[in-house]
Amino acid sequence: MKTAIKEMPKTTTAPESKSKQQGSQTNVNESKLQELFVDGLKDIYYAEKALVKALPKMIKNATAPQLIEAIKGHLEETKDQVIKLESVFSELGLKAQAKKCDAMDGLLKEATGIMEECEKGMMRDAGIITAAQKVEHYEIATYGTLSAFAGILNHSKVADMLHEILEQEKNADLKLTEVTSMIIKL
Ligand code: FE
Ligand code: FE
Ligand code: FE
Ligand code: ZN
Repeated sequence: MKTAIKEMPKTTTAPESKSKQQGSQTNVNESKLQELFVDGLKDIYYAEKALVKALPKMIKNATAPQLIEAIKGHLEETKDQVIKLESVFSELGLKAQAKKCDAMDGLLKEATGIMEECEKGMMRDAGIITAAQKVEHYEIATYGTLSAFAGILNHSKVADMLHEILEQEKNADLKLTEVTSMIIKL
């Protein structure tokens, strides 16, 4: 995300006036926070749509039925999250718009690499879990911040909607941890 944060205190300030400046730091500008928030929504909207395309490849590469089931379940949730995000945009009076998420593209590129490097079977399953949990944590970070910003910006209904997705992501992550201890063995 490339939104410039223009109001960081200048580091060139003399040490003496530094604490003074911090004390009088202006509050965040509402329309700028709103802009950052909407940018974040566009980013995660792109990311969820990229996941809808990428998760079937992970399912195809997975071996253990518990892992396949977990990812299949989360694929359905992810499709639903795309729709939920479209409702979030419409609740805000905006058209749903995606903005390239370099982070998700990177995580998915790594996922492809890991699957190629690990031999099909338990090892590739372990690799898929590695990649999938990184994805979930990126989403958890994103929805955590976005639902907090929505609250600050007084979009309480949207905050609840984003919080609901956040809980799905946390559960997906927990499920993968559970599956790991069931299927990965020496
Ligand atoms: Fe998601
Ligand atoms: Fe992103
Ligand atoms: Fe990495
Ligand atoms: Zn997810």
